[in-house]
Amino acid sequence: MTPRFHSQPASQGLGMTSQRARDRMIERLRAEGGINDERVLTAMRTVPRHLFIDEALASRAYEDTALPIGNGQTISQPWVVARMTAALIENGLPQRVLEVGTGSGYQASVLATLGLETYSVERIEELLRVARRRFRNLGLNVRTKHDDGRAGWPEYAPFDGIIVTAGAAALDQALFDQLPEGGTLVAPIGAANGQRLLRIRRVEGELVREDLGGVVFVPLLPGTL
Ligand code: SAH
Repeated sequence: MTPRFHSQPASQGLGMTSQRARDRMIERLRAEGGINDERVLTAMRTVPRHLFIDEALASRAYEDTALPIGNGQTISQPWVVARMTAALIENGLPQRVLEVGTGSGYQASVLATLGLETYSVERIEELLRVARRRFRNLGLNVRTKHDDGRAGWPEYAPFDGIIVTAGAAALDQALFDQLPEGGTLVAPIGAANGQRLLRIRRVEGELVREDLGGVVFVPLLPGTL
């Protein structure tokens, strides 16, 4: 049996999971997606997205679409990952970043590849177990915790970057308490069927909000599984 996360999967020969496929995804993000942050494009060219989804779907890894990862969850669409990452680092590269919603581990891997000290919290243990294996196999240093990430990760706070990858009507005060002066939080906020991607920065003590457009995310849910 072919190991699931073998570094050279059998499908590589078909070209659908090759570096060329990844390069094409990057060119689409740039040309059609309007993503022009070279740091983000380089990181996404480096991280093999096909290793973050089930082998049965690997041939679709470099399409610009969200894909199921089990437990009713999805790996975010590449354009959304690029947009959120670019928004997070636009005003300066944060040193320490918290992600709420590890999911497949793809977004966290992009952050770690950018050289950020990355912390990620996931409420579904089964997803986190698989994500941790991916980080290990790729040699990425992502610190993870199985917990309800709505409370952030106080032990390692403050985080000068916080990225929430599940949608909620509002965020708990706990997350803002872990955002220092000059820090940036990016999160989808709004109704279950569609949210606004917000960037919230702490500037001279005040929280300043910017609306970056409409997005659709799976819901931020309470408790752990
Ligand atoms: N960033 C992920 C996207 C995963 S989808 C990736 O790159 O693949 C959103 C994830 O958020 C799901 O895995 C879901 O289980 C998780 N999630 C939802 N509510 C959460 C909460 N309160 N705390 C932590 N994780 C949560």
